[in-house]
Amino acid sequence: MPAAEGAAISAVVLDKDGLERLLAAIRAKGWRLIGPRVADGAVVYDDIDGVADLPAGIGDEQKGGHYRLKPRPDGALFGYTSGAQGWKRFLYPPRQKLFAARRTQAGFAIQPPEPAPQPLALIGVRACELAAIATQAKVFGDKDYADPGYQGRLKGALVVAVECGAAGDTCFCASMGTGPEVSSGHDIKLVELAGKTGPTFVATAATAKGADLLPAAAGRPAAEADLAAAAKAVKAAARQSRRMETATSAALKDQPEHPRWDQVAARCMTCGNCTLVCPTCFCTTVEDVTDLKGDNAERWRKWDSCFTVDFSYIHGGAIRTEVRSRYRQWITHKLSTWHDQFGQAGCVGCGRCITWCPVGIDITEEVRAIHDSAKGRK
Ligand code: SF4
Ligand code: SF4
Repeated sequence: MPAAEGAAISAVVLDKDGLERLLAAIRAKGWRLIGPRVADGAVVYDDIDGVADLPAGIGDEQKGGHYRLKPRPDGALFGYTSGAQGWKRFLYPPRQKLFAARRTQAGFAIQPPEPAPQPLALIGVRACELAAIATQAKVFGDKDYADPGYQGRLKGALVVAVECGAAGDTCFCASMGTGPEVSSGHDIKLVELAGKTGPTFVATAATAKGADLLPAAAGRPAAEADLAAAAKAVKAAARQSRRMETATSAALKDQPEHPRWDQVAARCMTCGNCTLVCPTCFCTTVEDVTDLKGDNAERWRKWDSCFTVDFSYIHGGAIRTEVRSRYRQWITHKLSTWHDQFGQAGCVGCGRCITWCPVGIDITEEVRAIHDSAKGRK
């Protein structure tokens, strides 16, 4: 986690070789490089060795229930908008061993999980994703229910943010106040600029940790013109076709019987995609496994979804058996009751749940329908 946030310490201009040197310096200091790369027809976050693994000349096309990669002639390395995965997969893994227990003569010996072997360097984090990380840090930082695993991984991480140069069709971070401009939560910020000989990057350090690393990239000091070009580049991403009616969404908990829940339930397949791609959703279940003799046991925590029937199982049965109640639970928690718990919304406007919903259900459209009916416009 960045030691000090916000203030820019220094700025340099890097070409692709300079970026390679920066990544090499980060790796040499012991961080595990995680960044964007193409796999299975999508941009995913995974281990990278260097610049050659980044998705050069790759953009994407997104709308409700639709995602396709498409080539970009400018060779941009970060020319895509958010893919299916957030950084949650690394900071809050889908499966985590909580502890193991081994039978001894005196009872059971408890073994805590092994610590992660290497701290993480997250390369290419967008503004909405920084907001999602901060949101989960609040959830897992609660003093009574803190998650030391999440806090430890985030504390050890190095965050290299990248400004968006354009918004995707499903983005709505501007209306959530979480983007598109990177403002905090990072150690180094990159702004990618198109050039005649390929992309260049205005790199700014925001923490002492970032400032220690930047000299290794051997870039030239940024001039006023570079900084002006960088400031202009991010402005384009503020033009977004979707927006959230935040006043209505925060009051969703007052609409438990709205007829819109039945309409969305007729489309929703309760697949849970929206919760799995969402960078802030945090629900889990716990699974115990033992060997056949019962001498060794492990407790695992796994991602779960409020769209499964079992998730709401309490004594005697599940309490959310209808699709409408499960969709209502998800969106009402995310946009409304999250405020009661954490003092903010649980949505950062990344648009993933719209893109990756197989039937294209749009969280902004659902809120707008309720907003319009409340205003008597429908
Ligand atoms: S809203 Fe879409 S992604 Fe979410 S559970 Fe329903 S069908 Fe699946
Ligand atoms: S609810 Fe949808 S738009 Fe909001 S953070 Fe989650 S995936 Fe992104």
